[in-house]
Amino acid sequence: MTDAELDRLAEIIARALLERPRVPDDTGRASTWLPIPVRAAPPERGAEPPSWSGAAQDLGDVAPSRDRDRPPRFRVATADLTRATRAAAAGKGPPPERITPAPERRLTRPRPANAPAIDVRVGVSNRHVHLSEVDARTLFGGAPLNVARSLTQPGQFAAAETVVVQGPNGTLENVRVVGPARSETQLEIALSDAALLGVAPRVAASGSLVDSTGGITLLGPAGRIELHQGVIVAARHLHLSPGDSTGWGLRDGDRLDVRCGVGAREATLHDVLVRSGEGHATELHVDIDEARAMGVATGDTATVVAWRTPGPAKRPLITERDVVRLARERARIPANAILTPSARDRASALGILDS
Ligand SMILES: [Zn+2]
Repeated sequence: MTDAELDRLAEIIARALLERPRVPDDTGRASTWLPIPVRAAPPERGAEPPSWSGAAQDLGDVAPSRDRDRPPRFRVATADLTRATRAAAAGKGPPPERITPAPERRLTRPRPANAPAIDVRVGVSNRHVHLSEVDARTLFGGAPLNVARSLTQPGQFAAAETVVVQGPNGTLENVRVVGPARSETQLEIALSDAALLGVAPRVAASGSLVDSTGGITLLGPAGRIELHQGVIVAARHLHLSPGDSTGWGLRDGDRLDVRCGVGAREATLHDVLVRSGEGHATELHVDIDEARAMGVATGDTATVVAWRTPGPAKRPLITERDVVRLARERARIPANAILTPSARDRASALGILDS
């Protein structure tokens, strides 16, 4: 475009604007300028925010809580709802709105570090044996066990029946059978019993066979059983009823410090394992050696003075040098260990690597 052409164009635009009717603008003053385009107002919805705005949605309802100790605020079990919707769509179930949502899982808030101490009842366990049904039949000839006395833990009882426990070095008479039958036979003894019998069991949680030992014979009126595993020294533990667990903020697997006894024999037990859930009644279980050392008896009161919630277990890192040392000590490599590549090579060369 030449300069002359641009001048002519400007003149045409100026004339067109002058010839337009004068219209009032937003401010009410008359203007010759082109009106500003205005977007149409959205339809009235009252106070309710529009459905597409997202304003009605609380993020806490859809996003799981970052704090794993707090329950997520899901209102509906999403997986259940999805399943129900799919089934209903396939004509195989009621519409999802008629499904009653699963009850919200109640998680226990951890006990605050500065919470007051808790008093619990002490129960002292003497040596006893839990029997599998097969072993009970072998020892007592098939007659059901007779209940001599029910124990604090719901459903558990001391049976009228006893067995003789024979070890390499000694024998214990009248070892009480505790019912009902378990899936595996387990003999729970104190360390002083172990010394007398001549076995070296490990301290382990009742019911655990992983750390158990054998080398024991059980004698009953109808027969005998050789135990190749299942002998333990029961680790001290605190049974917690579900109500106390929620109320006190202590959970299955927590570790506690518990003060027991009075006067010169008072002691604090560390690393007391919490065992909680349905079928538990609140009671601190120590064995007879521990009870004697602290001068406590069944029915005494102990005080929970500190509590820890375990974090994820740390896996040990094993280097080649550790492998050589473990091999020299004839020790095993921990099952959960992380091995460096050279440690793995050395361990398999030495033949101490499982699998
Ligand atoms: Zn117990």
